[in-house]
Amino acid sequence: MGISWSKSSQAFARAKQSIPGGVNSPARAFTAVEMDPLFIERGTGAYLYDLDGNQYIDYVNSWGPMILGYNHPHVLAALKDQLAKGSSFGAPTEVETELAELIKEFCPAIDKVRMVNSGTEATMSAIRLARGYTGRDKIVKIEGCYHGHADSLLVEAGSGVATLGIKGSPGVTSNTACETIVVPFNDQPAVEQVFTEYGSEIAALILEPVTGNMGVIAPQTAYLKFLRSITKKYQSLLIFDEVMTGFRLARGGAQELYNIAADLTTFGKIIGGGMPVGAFAGKKEIMDYIAPDGPVYQAGTLSGNPMAMQAGLATLKELNDSQKYQKLAELSQQLAAGIEKNIAELDFPAHLSKVGSMFTLFFSKEEVKNYHDVQNCRLDLFASYFKLMLAQGIYLPPSQFEANFISLALSKADLEKTIAANYQALKQLRTD
Ligand code: PMP
Repeated sequence: MGISWSKSSQAFARAKQSIPGGVNSPARAFTAVEMDPLFIERGTGAYLYDLDGNQYIDYVNSWGPMILGYNHPHVLAALKDQLAKGSSFGAPTEVETELAELIKEFCPAIDKVRMVNSGTEATMSAIRLARGYTGRDKIVKIEGCYHGHADSLLVEAGSGVATLGIKGSPGVTSNTACETIVVPFNDQPAVEQVFTEYGSEIAALILEPVTGNMGVIAPQTAYLKFLRSITKKYQSLLIFDEVMTGFRLARGGAQELYNIAADLTTFGKIIGGGMPVGAFAGKKEIMDYIAPDGPVYQAGTLSGNPMAMQAGLATLKELNDSQKYQKLAELSQQLAAGIEKNIAELDFPAHLSKVGSMFTLFFSKEEVKNYHDVQNCRLDLFASYFKLMLAQGIYLPPSQFEANFISLALSKADLEKTIAANYQALKQLRTD
């Protein structure tokens, strides 16, 4: 008997009457895979359960935050405890400082941290700060990187923007868009050219140091070091958007992995342990430009919300242990080895791209180095693959332009089941 998604479809039909597109964020709409999205009832450990009662091994992890799995006992306890005390005060609480201190311990390039409510707010504020601090207007962004939906960053973006094939967005004025200069990922000459021409006008270069929002692509050797030196040369700021990679690729994120110190870093996802949080952070000299100490204004009624801080702190405390990253690496390696074996055995035109506990199966035989290469992947095969995996109880991000995430809640048996499902799906696609 086939799997049924009828309750999810009914719930989606109902949602569409009251919510644009039936969803509160386009990336979860399953548009690219041409089916109704699943409505989730609950999650536990590494598993999700939909309204029809189907169980899935989850590789979306709420798009990254759930690195410990769902309902981790320490996160749950911290949330329950805070709930009993009060969920929001709009006044300082000690847990904000505790979390900021732990972030500083993890990331030596950081002196000060300002909490916000989402990754979008984090990058939007970091850009404003960079402009205010340098007195310059232009920013350089990498094609296919996604930094949330703030106006100046919604140009040639990844994630849902790429999935839906949108280049910019109506509503973003041309005056705003023209201050954003876009260059391809892993392309040093393109960056060199832009800085030669506009160097003295560039406030910052922002990128995902390892991309997730056009699928997982690693920076080529020396690319990040080159970006560090050219931004320094022109006195522009280097902003690492570590909303996805922060506390995931290593305790100190991509900056630790590649041994590079950015001027500003943005966080989200894991830092909130599943609650809505973002943060931007950096050296004291730059961060002190923010109000109330400095002139650049930035604020938030719910910023530093105690529930979110507690969930984030409990999550980071769990991750303050190198063995956790060792385990993530082992799980990730086991899965990658299994999938790569399947691909070789079936001589399937796909390859796995992986950095730490983030990976993407690209439906292209060639190596993927930038956004253009991802656009040339077999998106039709991806859509069929996604559905074949879902029908076998494996929940993947519903787009080729996304990253899969490994959580610490996954067992070796879960990975074996995933590898077996991958084999069946690829075999089926080979014979179609
Ligand atoms: N930056 C990156 C690298 C992201 O992956 C995302 C979200 N996927 C954002 C920024 C925006 O975060 P949010 O959705 O919390 O606004």
